[in-house]
Amino acid sequence: MSDHFDLLVLGGGSGGMATARRAAAHGKRVVLVERGRLGGTCVNIGCVPKKVMWHAADFADRAAHAHDYGFTPIDARHDWARLVENRETYIRRLNDIYARNLDKDDVTFVAGDAHFVDAHTVEVNGQQLSADHVVIATGGKAKWPEIPGAALGTDSDGFFRWTERPNKVAIIGSGYIAVELAGVLQGLGTEVTLLLRKDHALGDFDAMLGGKLIEHMRKAGIDVQMKRTSVELKEKTDGIEVLFDNGESVGGFHQLIWAIGRVPNTAGLGLEQIGLELNADGTVPADDWQDTPVDGVHAVGDITGRVELTPVAIAAGRRLADRLFGGMPDRRLDYRNIPSVVFSHPPIGTVGMTEAEARAEHGDETVRIYTSHYIALYHGVLEDKSPSDMKLVCVGDDERVVGAHVIGDGADEMIQGFAVAVKMGATKRDFDDTVAIHPTSSEEFVTMT
Ligand SMILES: Cc1cc2nc3c(=O)[nH]c(=O)nc-3n(C[C@H](O)[C@H](O)[C@H](O)COP(=O)(O)OP(=O)(O)OC[C@H]3O[C@@H](n4cnc5c(N)ncnc54)[C@H](O)[C@@H]3O)c2cc1C
Repeated sequence: MSDHFDLLVLGGGSGGMATARRAAAHGKRVVLVERGRLGGTCVNIGCVPKKVMWHAADFADRAAHAHDYGFTPIDARHDWARLVENRETYIRRLNDIYARNLDKDDVTFVAGDAHFVDAHTVEVNGQQLSADHVVIATGGKAKWPEIPGAALGTDSDGFFRWTERPNKVAIIGSGYIAVELAGVLQGLGTEVTLLLRKDHALGDFDAMLGGKLIEHMRKAGIDVQMKRTSVELKEKTDGIEVLFDNGESVGGFHQLIWAIGRVPNTAGLGLEQIGLELNADGTVPADDWQDTPVDGVHAVGDITGRVELTPVAIAAGRRLADRLFGGMPDRRLDYRNIPSVVFSHPPIGTVGMTEAEARAEHGDETVRIYTSHYIALYHGVLEDKSPSDMKLVCVGDDERVVGAHVIGDGADEMIQGFAVAVKMGATKRDFDDTVAIHPTSSEEFVTMT
């Protein structure tokens, strides 16, 4: 067998798998190199295990409400180890399915760590593989701070390795991974302290979402502390202590999770061999066509630092393969209006511009904001009257909806359909003209005044 291919893909995560399989569907000879488990971050240590844990915490939440729905109180003692075992069995099944899919599509799979020899050649386990096109889809990993004692903590990968639930945990970070893990742990019975560097969470999202989420988290019992810059971790007899820049400290933690961002996996790839210079933040430069400045070398997914989500990596990879091998020269991903969900408690759904972005881009006078604050029917009969909140961001005389944001029960399953409307350029009038579905929470989106 010749070791020259049409396409060589580095990384068997969301982006790499999608690119390889689509190129193979176009009849091309493809080789994919992966040094870990197939499926990458999302399947093994990201979206999938995270959502399983979210379901468990959601179940605990529902169980706590059971009494108000007429049940005798549910004994919700939880076996963390059994949940982890079931979760990992499911993931192993997914790993097998991914391997079978590559096989079925005639994609050659090579297990190992790849590094560039030249722009069209990589070396894996001493073997050289070459191709007309190479796609870098090597993803990222958790960022760690350089402060004394940092190693006493762990990251989201470490969280997924836990076989028992710690009783008291500190989470440092304000992004979606930090708030999601906080919600899971608190929901399953852990005492959680969330340490934010500034005075808000989810800084990249509409400010309403982060603000409301902090209210929900505090009401649920999470100790959210703001303006906390950690400068050192110390091991004490009662657990980990976190020291802050103002001399204060907080301690007694059995575990501490760093969730302060992600960094791209470029170390050891040998990018210097092909003269590929990284962006200032260490990501691989890729234009709107997923092309790097090096001829024949492309990049998709988290490694590019652009909207780091699984469906984005998949969509970018498939479109790249369509363009290179499918006779579709104009195929590329439109990075605008990408919807996303934060699996917090309650969940968040969001698409399009934040209010601040719309005001900055279109001017205050053309922006019109609609909001709704309501108690979902589910909570109507509960003592716990957790509210939900929505916002529509509209611009111009025709009030085009450029942003839709929601936090509350069902938000996770609600936003995908509205994202279609926003992407198609729907106006507030189109929303108003759509008959509501009753009784649901999503009807609030089409009944706002
Ligand atoms: C805790 C967590 C929760 C998340 N939740 C969600 C979510 O709910 N929804 C969502 O859309 N996204 C979520 N994400 C983000 C999502 O996982 C990523 O956006 C996605 O996996 C990116 O895909 P990728 O192909 O770019 O990289 P990855 O999936 O990271 O794949 C890269 C692969 O490349 C391999 N690799 C690296 N270097 C080499 C090398 N030199 N040689 C060979 N192989 C190599 C790695 O082993 C890895 O398998 C989450 C991430 C985390 C960490």
